[in-house]
Amino acid sequence: MNILFAASEAFPFIKTGGLGDVAHSLPIALNELGEDVRLVLPAYRDVLASVDSLKELGFWDLPGIGVTHRVRVLQAHQDELGDFLYLIDVPSLFDRPGNPYVHSGGFNWPDNAERFTVFSRAVAQLSKGIPGTDWVPDVVHSHDWQTGLVSAFISMSYPRPKTVFTIHNMAYDGHFSYADFTSLGLPPEWWSSDHVEFYGGFSMLKAGMVFSDQVTTVSPTYAREICTPEYGYRFEGVLQSLGDKLSGILNGIDLETWNPETDSHLVQNYGISDAKKKKQWAAGKLANKQALLKDVALPYEGLAEGKAPLLGFIGRLVEQKGVDLVTSMLPELFSTTDAMVVILGSGHMSYEAELLSLAAQYPSRLHVHIGYSEDLAHQIEAGCDLFLMPSRFEPCGLNQMYSLRYGTPPVVNFTGGLADTVTDASDMALQEKTASGFVFHDVNADALLSAVMRGLEIYRQPERWKQLCETAMQQDLGWELSAKKYQELYNK
Ligand code: ADP
Repeated sequence: MNILFAASEAFPFIKTGGLGDVAHSLPIALNELGEDVRLVLPAYRDVLASVDSLKELGFWDLPGIGVTHRVRVLQAHQDELGDFLYLIDVPSLFDRPGNPYVHSGGFNWPDNAERFTVFSRAVAQLSKGIPGTDWVPDVVHSHDWQTGLVSAFISMSYPRPKTVFTIHNMAYDGHFSYADFTSLGLPPEWWSSDHVEFYGGFSMLKAGMVFSDQVTTVSPTYAREICTPEYGYRFEGVLQSLGDKLSGILNGIDLETWNPETDSHLVQNYGISDAKKKKQWAAGKLANKQALLKDVALPYEGLAEGKAPLLGFIGRLVEQKGVDLVTSMLPELFSTTDAMVVILGSGHMSYEAELLSLAAQYPSRLHVHIGYSEDLAHQIEAGCDLFLMPSRFEPCGLNQMYSLRYGTPPVVNFTGGLADTVTDASDMALQEKTASGFVFHDVNADALLSAVMRGLEIYRQPERWKQLCETAMQQDLGWELSAKKYQELYNK
């Protein structure tokens, strides 16, 4: 099947979050299953700088706001995708440095509505066939609000490919004004509550939902949650009306980048892929714990048996991730246990300041690194005993899956992809050898702390702990399973 992927970011060219990982990994996984997937991205400055052999395939003149843009489609080469990466080149809209959505002051680019409408118009042109080739997509799969209008524009053509739209996070909905709607020259009949109108404005996310043949999100539980007022951001009615057009397919992780047996960020590799390694993984993990403690200047002398448990947290320091639950429970954790904690992240200044102040208060128990560090992220996954991920909502989540693979049982809230990937260490699950972490159900610091305490209790029982970690490390977290589910969806 010919499948055109349209996204506003993709690793390794430009990435701000999970969408970038999916737009990279899923096409590769689908191609391995025999599909022919090609990817189209906006030609941002960083993307143009990171590809080879650019070739112009054609151009169209497409409407923007008050101007007609000359829109060129470029073919680019990249090792993993070969020549099947297409770039939509409109220098006045995309030739800008840095983040694809916000400028260096941290605010949205003021012309985002125009940028992603023109991109979506161009993708709809490509859906009729890639210029200069005989390749025509059977399915166009677009992602998040930036490509929400792709299916809408495609719906105006006949014949047309089938359309799939994936929602990666409901918190970002591409909401613009009626004035934007009219100035973009969109069909007036789209201004209705059945189409793109949303509470008096114009929502590109809603366009993706209502105009696509199938809508997916990145975990089965999140697919159910977003149909409720608590998680739906007022879209719950629209989502409910989709019925079985809406489904959830769990993301996978990159099993090469996140492999404790080969990870070059670690002082010692470890794993359980054969009997010999299975005997030694705990020693490998302990070596990483000691190295991490030393690097972050927490006490590591006398930790030969790794007695004091080490807890990790990595992520954006925002309300979604439950950072406030972590800061609220730390004083009690430190006063009642010997646990230590390492935190890596950046985000809201208030969370950053609170964490730094706690680190100053508990210098021998807490290390806080404000910033982004790929190296430290890998070392935390490998060196910690437990991983904290108390997100209020989590469409899929990657870090809990990295933790499972690194034998670092995650402590998670029962929501979205966290609920779908972590099995709570109840007595029964431990007995049945299905337990992989600790799950709590009320979003508050007490619930998080009691889940951590349950974790620490099992940590003190070496046999049960070993079983728990090994179950976690054995989980099937790659892309193959997910790619097969997308394949079934396309076939449908
Ligand atoms: P989200 O996409 O909501 O931010 P995910 O768990 O799905 O959350 O993915 C976040 C990704 O970004 C993970 O790969 C995580 O390790 C990484 N990450 C987040 N913050 C940092 C940081 N400060 N340093 C290194 N990696 C980070």
